[in-house]
Amino acid sequence: MKKFILVILIILASVATASYYYRSERISGNKRLIKEATQTKELRSANIEINYFPLMFKTKVLGKNQQRVSFEHSQGLNVYLGQLHAHSTFSFEGKGTPEQNYDKARKSKDLDFFALTEHEYVWLDNGKYEKLKQISAEFQSENFLPIHGFEYSNLIAGHYVVLNTNTFKSSWGDLSPDDLYSWLKKPEQKDALVIFAHPGFHFYRKPFEFSHFKFDKDIVDKIIGIETHHWDPITFLGPGYGGKLLFIDEAVQSGWWLAPISSNDSHDYRNVPGKSRIGVVAEELSQKAIFSALKKRMTFASSFPIQLFASALVGDQQYPMGSQIPTSETLKIICDFVIPEEEKVGLERIEVLINGKVKAIKKLRTISNADLTAVPQSTASGTRPESGRIVIDINKPNIPSSPGYIYLRIFGYKAGKLIPSPIYVAPFYLK
Ligand SMILES: [Zn+2]
Ligand SMILES: [Zn+2]
Repeated sequence: MKKFILVILIILASVATASYYYRSERISGNKRLIKEATQTKELRSANIEINYFPLMFKTKVLGKNQQRVSFEHSQGLNVYLGQLHAHSTFSFEGKGTPEQNYDKARKSKDLDFFALTEHEYVWLDNGKYEKLKQISAEFQSENFLPIHGFEYSNLIAGHYVVLNTNTFKSSWGDLSPDDLYSWLKKPEQKDALVIFAHPGFHFYRKPFEFSHFKFDKDIVDKIIGIETHHWDPITFLGPGYGGKLLFIDEAVQSGWWLAPISSNDSHDYRNVPGKSRIGVVAEELSQKAIFSALKKRMTFASSFPIQLFASALVGDQQYPMGSQIPTSETLKIICDFVIPEEEKVGLERIEVLINGKVKAIKKLRTISNADLTAVPQSTASGTRPESGRIVIDINKPNIPSSPGYIYLRIFGYKAGKLIPSPIYVAPFYLK
């Protein structure tokens, strides 16, 4: 009982502090976003060439009868879309039972997978966790992969989305991420997939969160991602703890090999599916294939539904997004994409970042203010999906040496942005 009252008091105090800070944080966050969104001037770099070709791709039926695209050099891999972070009534403050959440996700035409990741804190117990496993298994179908996990929700150390473990770890009494990391090092957790959840989102935790990405080489294979997009309406997370780089760059430069992840962090089944998506490039829609692709960081994070396949070409070797590539003199990144017609999103510009710094910007289309409601390109037969290929040639000295990384930020017009998983120059581990 005492423990319960203490928890309630801590929560009330946290909520009060958070709401006080939220306002100022949100206002400065918005200013930052406006600045970012209006910085559309092209930035040329002598050793980076960006070309954009509007193209149509062959479609195929995949999953829920959708028009999926066959990207010709995706080596037989498919793009599956989903979400890996959401809550139900099992998290106490979530609205909608696990069944209602999975049902809504399964019915959504472009969620191939969906995870419920309940706050462990004081709400989850072994019985509920087992029940969640059982319920999620019941929603498995040929075209839908239900996933269960938990959100390690430490008030100070931070929140981590944890998937693919048999049991959950309570954050009760933990004062730093080391307690979670020790648990992850146990043999039972060898297949765990862990994501840094919403860095910086709760202002009061910023001084301690994730011990500011303190590196631990013994779990580098398990910490696979970091949320770059979060919540609904979508918030882009950043700048980082140091104020100069985004969180993803701070984390990667601390040594972590990470995939960008977008999450709605839905607390209400009526908000499923929401707009943000993670794309995972996998052989098939099975837990084994999706988890294996996540382990290879073969993902993209987007604030709008899009199908995308990005890869790097070094000589005639192709490396999908997220891969570690050898050092080379020249490098080509090919990025094929299709945005469904109904999304009415056009791609506006692309940025190439090397080791966290913007090195080149190219406008993909010129838009005037009158075009604010710009829709996909029209043809004689009507509108068609916005689709195409972006080819980026990078030459020395812009190719980073090991350890280094290159990534793209692609902006949808009035729709936010997408980030394919970086290409890492191996050996990547910094420490
Ligand atoms: Zn959280
Ligand atoms: Zn959450």
